[in-house]
Amino acid sequence: MNKERKKLRVIHDEELEGLLSKLGLLDDIKSGKRKCKFCERVITLGNIHSLFPESGQVSVICDNPECVKKLLIYLQQKDL
Ligand SMILES: [Zn+2]
Repeated sequence: MNKERKKLRVIHDEELEGLLSKLGLLDDIKSGKRKCKFCERVITLGNIHSLFPESGQVSVICDNPECVKKLLIYLQQKDL
């Protein structure tokens, strides 16, 4: 096994699916049931950017640059 450290933390599709599956989100996302917290776009495995826990649930964010910006501000405000 060749383990290279990469500067950028890249989540590979398989890792992402594993993580989503652990969180119980994979089926929802595959069936188009989850929406971006900010723009309400339907989240797919192709456009998911981030997920974070929030009041017992997991919020998901799409890869729209506006939503990524909002997420950073949002997390700062929550002081996480
Ligand atoms: Zn969005």
